[in-house]
Amino acid sequence: MDGSSWGQGSAWMARLHDASAHALYLHVPFCVRKCAYCDFASRATQANDPLMAAYVGALRQQMREAHELGLLDGIQTAYVGGGTPTLVGASLLASLVGDVRELAPGVAELSCEANPDSLGDEVLQTLVRSGATRVSIGVQSLNDAELQALGRVHDARTACERVRAAVASGLDVSCDLMCATPCQDDASWQSTLAQVAGLAVGHASVYPLQLEEGTPLGERWADEGPAWNDPEVQARRMEAAAAVLGDSGYVRYEVASYAREGKVCRHNQAYWTGRPYLGLGVAASSMLTREGYQRLRRACVQLPVIDDDVSRVRLTVASGAQDIAREPALEALRFDIELLDEAQAAAEDLMLGMRLSAGVGPELLGHARSTLGEARVDGAIASCVERDLAAWDGERLEPTHDGWLLGNELYGTLWDLAPGEVREASA
Ligand code: SF4
Repeated sequence: MDGSSWGQGSAWMARLHDASAHALYLHVPFCVRKCAYCDFASRATQANDPLMAAYVGALRQQMREAHELGLLDGIQTAYVGGGTPTLVGASLLASLVGDVRELAPGVAELSCEANPDSLGDEVLQTLVRSGATRVSIGVQSLNDAELQALGRVHDARTACERVRAAVASGLDVSCDLMCATPCQDDASWQSTLAQVAGLAVGHASVYPLQLEEGTPLGERWADEGPAWNDPEVQARRMEAAAAVLGDSGYVRYEVASYAREGKVCRHNQAYWTGRPYLGLGVAASSMLTREGYQRLRRACVQLPVIDDDVSRVRLTVASGAQDIAREPALEALRFDIELLDEAQAAAEDLMLGMRLSAGVGPELLGHARSTLGEARVDGAIASCVERDLAAWDGERLEPTHDGWLLGNELYGTLWDLAPGEVREASA
């Protein structure tokens, strides 16, 4: 359960130069309809939309190219996310998951995101047969009024039934839950939490609703902060989640993530522990070392030459679903790019590591001190400890209860250690 063995073991420094990614993300941007709060890269579509087959075919081609470049050699986890990947149906899903198994044989955890309404028995069996190990289900709530207010397609009964079926299939099951939403009160939230714990899932993720510009809920409430989404309500609901799930045997290993013994999501941990990852598909993000970026450039001639001091490259796919389906080759993709030097990458790793209950260990702290300056790092840490945002546990620096509640303060203090501006480019 401890994040340290996976997060910051003795090989931590080696991953700063690993030319392969450790984690693979495939984005499938199709949904039955847009939820009222959603600003993710997804589009409402019909189940028989031919674009889905062309798009999945394009992702498969891009995976093959990445494999030929050696970018999949070190992949240990994969995540098919969305959107609603299960909407593409059993056959396309099987081809995608099967390709991951073939091209990244080192994958130990292969997750697929799903929504209850498109997670039929056939899709579940397909996921099991094709080699998925885990399904992450967008339950959000087990209260029908809340689900309707969020614009979700499913109802509570369907969600419970499909979660039970997923657990029975033998896959590891995670439920995504959302708090501080319209129509929710303390009692209905407690009820959702208790029911989810009773469904015997191994993992749950819990997030407060964010009102985003351009979404129906965001526009409706643009001028007034609604009482149901007040920061105090958000904090109270997150604490209720910690209490109910904690009493039911889940350990909170990350600010928004709870797992029973052995059920931590290794893929998500990659994002918080400086492991390079490759994202394919609309709006998918990659984080590559300098060496990994040079590999990608062999196929992507559109990518710029980078300065000698760049040690980490973040890329976000800027091409749309139709563009990707029409021109699948990696060399046709458009990217938004961020270039970090070693010191900026160290500050980023410190910040992300503090999302984990295990915090950051001596290897990362030592590296941060040598790249960012010992006095500066120790000063920032002392300030976090003084404000009760972080605390020492032996040689590890861990977030406190207040540190998680006031995450932006904690993460902001550590990110402010990064010198200069992150350079940006597009290709
Ligand atoms: S199912 Fe998820 S990705 Fe699709 S519209 Fe709803 S929130 Fe967005």
